[in-house]
Amino acid sequence: MRHSWRIGRIFGIDINVDSSWFLIFVLFSWVLAANYYPQGYPGWSTGLYWLIGILTSLFIFSSVLIHELAHSIAAIKQGEKVRNITLFILGGVAQITEEPKRPLQELVMSLVGPLTSFGLGFVFFILALILRGIGDPLYAMASYLALINIILGIFNLLPGFPMDGGRVLRAIIWQVTGNLRQATRIASKTGQGFAFLLMVLGGIQVLRGYLSGLWLIFIGWFLHSAAVRGYRRVMVEAVLKGVKAENLMTKDYQSVRHDLSVQKLVDDFILKKKERVFLVLEEDEVRGIVCLEDVKATPREKWSDETVEDIMTPREELMFVSPEADGNTILNSLTAKDIHQVPVLKDGKITGIICRSDILRFIQLHSELGV
Ligand SMILES: [Zn+2]
Repeated sequence: MRHSWRIGRIFGIDINVDSSWFLIFVLFSWVLAANYYPQGYPGWSTGLYWLIGILTSLFIFSSVLIHELAHSIAAIKQGEKVRNITLFILGGVAQITEEPKRPLQELVMSLVGPLTSFGLGFVFFILALILRGIGDPLYAMASYLALINIILGIFNLLPGFPMDGGRVLRAIIWQVTGNLRQATRIASKTGQGFAFLLMVLGGIQVLRGYLSGLWLIFIGWFLHSAAVRGYRRVMVEAVLKGVKAENLMTKDYQSVRHDLSVQKLVDDFILKKKERVFLVLEEDEVRGIVCLEDVKATPREKWSDETVEDIMTPREELMFVSPEADGNTILNSLTAKDIHQVPVLKDGKITGIICRSDILRFIQLHSELGV
């Protein structure tokens, strides 16, 4: 499982470090202390190589953090919310809660990151010039950091979504066509293309005996899935835009008794009546809701022993929405709280139930029909 730790808070943004970050931190320090610095600058003591290696790694990750902070501050200035910044094995990511609302906003938000990296590269370059001749280790570190920041800036500008350059490309297409969904599709396809290219390059390196190619394959694989996910997110948002709870809910849901066995629920209600969602009652009181998803999550051998009450979402944990509630907001809350269904309440009465599967089917139908 993934673990991450909060190491601080800057400008009201939580800074997290993922467990995978420690791996890359140790790897970087080791490669620098045992390989890069000894080859370029012979004659230091082992301790000094390690000190400079570890310091350089810390500065690399501070540089990544500053890059992400630049994105975050630009986002906050434009009225977006930033949940957190997480440093992980491949760098950093700023969690911005919503997609940008205008092309120009996206353009600015994306460009500040690489520009900040170039700025940092320039600062380290000047430092290296100053330190030249004063102290070899500090000069070595500054010139390495100048190089790394410039590479970071260039790499991020590759025009494939979700990299910054891909977001710039998306903003431009979006500005020209006025269609965010189409812009995202093109930028995402370009991103997938770059990711594929990285994986091929990595594969060739591995075949030629360089294990560092595995690294490129890994980065390519990560970028590929991020590009696919990014497009899906925008597509879902576009389909659900302006869709209200009353358009998504099931009105003719059935009620079942709380002490009904899961087996009976399956036999008598789900299979016979083809229903997917049920209000669970004790006498006339609503105790909770049970959905097809809850049944699927229960192992088959337990169906005869467990009751509907055992597997339902109890009333206390339910989130209620009004018929006018926004589709995107509902889906985001369902995902964030990991619940499967939400009752729609009007004047204190349940008028319908929305299952996560209802929303997914709605999205699937609309995207298949292209409407
Ligand atoms: Zn960036």
